[in-house]
Amino acid sequence: MTWPCPDCAEVRHGVRANEGRPCRNCATARAWAAVPQDTRDEVHRVVAEQNAVKAVARVRELTGCEMDEAMLLLDRLRPRS
Ligand SMILES: [Zn+2]
Repeated sequence: MTWPCPDCAEVRHGVRANEGRPCRNCATARAWAAVPQDTRDEVHRVVAEQNAVKAVARVRELTGCEMDEAMLLLDRLRPRS
């Protein structure tokens, strides 16, 4: 079956038990939003130091997400120059 992601409206495919769940991207974003602000600030500092390996490890520790999800999230956090 299919349903739209409640956060970004991207069409999702899956089993009925997962109906209404956000896509992996949005689920990671939600987990990240639930992390306390001071902890997020800490990760932002790690990102600013360009220590990608450390940043990915910390995000995974905080959100319990997969490596590729952590990388996507960090990509969005990274300041554009
Ligand atoms: Zn989504």
